Amino acid sequence: MHPDYEMVIGLEVHAQVNTKSKLFSGSSTEFGAEPNTQANCIDLGMPGMLPVLNQAAVSAGIKLGLAIGATVSPVSVFARKNYYYPDLPKGYQISQYEKPIVENGMVSIDLDDGTTKEIRVERMHLEEDAGKSVHDIGLESHSHVDLNRAGIPLMEIVSRPDLRTPEEAGAYMKKLRAILRFIDVCDGNMEQGSLRCDANVSVRKKGVETLGTRCEIKNLNSIRNVMRAIQYEADRQIDVLEDGGKIQQQTRLWDNDKAETRAMRSKEDAHDYRYFPDPDLLPLRVSGARITEIRETMPELPDQMKERFIEAYGLSVYDASVLTISRQNAEYFEAALSLKNGKPERDPKLLTNWMTVELFAALNKAGKDIMDSPVSPEQLSELVSLIEEGEISGKIAKQVFAEMLETSKDPSNIVEEKGLKQISDTGALEEIIQKVMDDNEDSVEKYRNGNERIFGFFVGQVMKATQGQANPGVVNELLKKALAG
Ligand code: ADP
Ligand code: MG
Repeated sequence: MHPDYEMVIGLEVHAQVNTKSKLFSGSSTEFGAEPNTQANCIDLGMPGMLPVLNQAAVSAGIKLGLAIGATVSPVSVFARKNYYYPDLPKGYQISQYEKPIVENGMVSIDLDDGTTKEIRVERMHLEEDAGKSVHDIGLESHSHVDLNRAGIPLMEIVSRPDLRTPEEAGAYMKKLRAILRFIDVCDGNMEQGSLRCDANVSVRKKGVETLGTRCEIKNLNSIRNVMRAIQYEADRQIDVLEDGGKIQQQTRLWDNDKAETRAMRSKEDAHDYRYFPDPDLLPLRVSGARITEIRETMPELPDQMKERFIEAYGLSVYDASVLTISRQNAEYFEAALSLKNGKPERDPKLLTNWMTVELFAALNKAGKDIMDSPVSPEQLSELVSLIEEGEISGKIAKQVFAEMLETSKDPSNIVEEKGLKQISDTGALEEIIQKVMDDNEDSVEKYRNGNERIFGFFVGQVMKATQGQANPGVVNELLKKALAG
């Protein structure tokens, strides 16, 4: 990235609401059904059909508004956004336009250096999803339309252009996904398209206040691709400017295989959607009582949980944000802490390391979710407890852990079966130490003549003789005594 420039990024995120039925019809929203088995006359846009607003989708919208500290509008309006496309049989999409249900929120993002940054959310409006055109089945000259997705409720969450780097954009997506999942309004699955992102990117010389001309990148289906596309696009724009050119405001597509963005349409051919309030739908009124009722059922949110973890368990900001990025991670962690009257029985820092380093790496490698972890929280807790009580060393623990991943056995059973228990028995260790000293008489002599650096050699020999199972603290103590003569 050219050092004279900075990026300006605003994200438009579409989140499919996890209601059972669609925004304006009773059809099922279940993913993966046979094409067109979940589309009724309303979804098909038959003449004379009347939309009926799904109240569960409205409640989900209010929940999100409260979760991001936004204003929930007492009155919002559904409008018709007119355009023609084969996957949109009505010829218009019902969406909120001038008066969205949620305005002026804030998402606090966690950066890798442990700092946070507030990103403003301009608005969230409710709208219906379109159907899908399918081109890759059957005859090459034929296209198909699947209307199962038509009418599924979407939240469109629009950020202000407050993001400055691809990393910040990634952190924003992660936090937004965590919030949506914590409040249980969207499954956050980007692969299945329940969470989608369009990225608006512009660049400007550092120190310049005015915003540069932006391009919007569509088709981003993973956080990694959001970040890659932004970096590519910013570099492309800087090259154009440095060559004396101008940025054309465009909609661009991300091509995953080529790892580049390419022009789809310019702003000049932007649609005029002829928005107008949908005469089939009354303005949506949300009472203060309804907002209060929903506020009272709000679960703990990721940021609140993060603060609690820092406070109650003395974790670093970074560790706390990693553990609270998903409720499942947090629940696993708290289960493994073995809380007694709210107090952890395990050392939180040691447990965090085992979870975020060893366990996460293993799960990642196996492509598994924490919910399918072969090691249960109780088992990880037991492993940490064995280390804390000096039953096994950290090194042996890794060996035990590898076996736990393979077999899902309890760590104490593995230690027992394989005879991995740490040797703290002074009698046994003294014997071994004596043997090591007998075998290395000249080293003993050197030590006694003042070469204290050779002490490590003796520790190493004892460890070797015990296959790493000797308790290092006890070994140190006994060795010092024995060598002193
Ligand atoms: P439109 O009405 O064309 O959708 P908006 O003003 O609603 O445009 O902005 C859409 C998104 O683009 C928002 O996320 C906003 O933050 C972002 N955005 C607006 N201007 C810029 C810019 N100059 N550079 C980067 N992002 C921008
Ligand atoms: Mg807009």
